[in-house]
Amino acid sequence: MSNYKNETKCIQSGYQPENGEARIVPIYQSTTFKYNSSEQMGRLFDLEESGYFYTRLQNPTNDAVAAKICDLEGGVAAMLTSSGQAANFYAIMNIVQAGDHIVCASALYGGTYNLYAHTIRKMGVEATFVDPDCTKEELEAAFQENTKAVFGETIANPALVVLDFEKFAEAAHAHGVPFIVDNTFATPINCRPFEWGADIVTHSTTKYMDGHASCVGGAIVDSGNFDWDAHADKFPGLTTPDETYHGIVYTERFGKGAYITKATAQLMRDLGSIQAPQNAFLLNLGLETLHLRVERHCANAVAAAKYLQNHEKVAWVNCPSLPGDKYYDLAQKYMPDGSCGVITFGLKGGRDAAVRMMDSLKMIAIVTHVADARSCVLHPASHTHRQMNDQELKEAGVQPDLIRFSVGIEHIDDIIADLAQALEEV
Ligand SMILES: *Cc1c(COP(=O)(O)O)cnc(C)c1O
Repeated sequence: MSNYKNETKCIQSGYQPENGEARIVPIYQSTTFKYNSSEQMGRLFDLEESGYFYTRLQNPTNDAVAAKICDLEGGVAAMLTSSGQAANFYAIMNIVQAGDHIVCASALYGGTYNLYAHTIRKMGVEATFVDPDCTKEELEAAFQENTKAVFGETIANPALVVLDFEKFAEAAHAHGVPFIVDNTFATPINCRPFEWGADIVTHSTTKYMDGHASCVGGAIVDSGNFDWDAHADKFPGLTTPDETYHGIVYTERFGKGAYITKATAQLMRDLGSIQAPQNAFLLNLGLETLHLRVERHCANAVAAAKYLQNHEKVAWVNCPSLPGDKYYDLAQKYMPDGSCGVITFGLKGGRDAAVRMMDSLKMIAIVTHVADARSCVLHPASHTHRQMNDQELKEAGVQPDLIRFSVGIEHIDDIIADLAQALEEV
């Protein structure tokens, strides 16, 4: 499928039925798979033969959907996880151990920040956070002897910072470590990080990929471009024998599939954050219209941002695809067809006005979600960050008046009419 355009891959990739088989990917609602010979089952356990034997490791529905996401990103191997959090956890844990270190862009999804700043720290892995707009010298200064990866988000949630891929990729590769990108907000429809030097891509499929707010899920995709053997001393987990599989060496046995095979064979085996096949089926339905929805989300977001920008009660608007935005040039470089459907804005009346406006919305709902078909808003100062006072909010990079607006795919006239009537109430 790799020669097709992404619009075609959304529909066609991942599953091609044989004569007389189900037209769309079946849900393999089975924990296990049957074999006639005990010897063959043994070979599967030794990774000597590939095949399904237990759904915690692999399931045909999940694999078909992972293959579609892999194709969309232009990778060589991919896996689904139970959530975006699990994807970002596995993506790092697959190549680090206690005593190691990672470098992260500081504008991150709150859950990812907690995961890297606190949870993996308890496991002995330290993270240094750098301003994504830092100079090359500042980025360079964040690296240590024990640095094993560089991480950032294509478009940060909710800061809407566009990552300068080339700067981060160059620094990662100069230090012999992979560059990992969470591409959730842009999706492979708008941006393919592998074309800009990323080695591994992660997703919260919960967002645009599912697109209907039906299933929490995640994915990891490997470009196959990072040469683990060239930096073998840094990545012993991939380049030295795994005693839990009779001493196989992942890079020797699986070549470009080494990273995903190890994440499946070790992390999924031991930690078990598997996506339910039923959810993978629903995710696949979402993927079939990803290209259409993303286009409409982005067009509506730019139109809504323009409307807000010209409104007398609005103080500021962030939308990377809006001319004049701080990240407009980077967005044009890395995602010229569109960025994402999420925008942020603040009102001249500040925090109180934000609350009043949100309470006055009729169609646009207040929910803790982004990137599904329905327009929705969230006020971090009142919701996700409500325990902080205004000073603490500023330090956390969340302005007290910031409204996060996930622009849906309703008709733009109805979206703007709802904004207009709510702004009247302020
Ligand atoms: C939502 C989100 C996550 C976490 O994903 P879940 O599916 O909610 O676990 C990670 N990264 C980004 C950019 C997100 O928006």
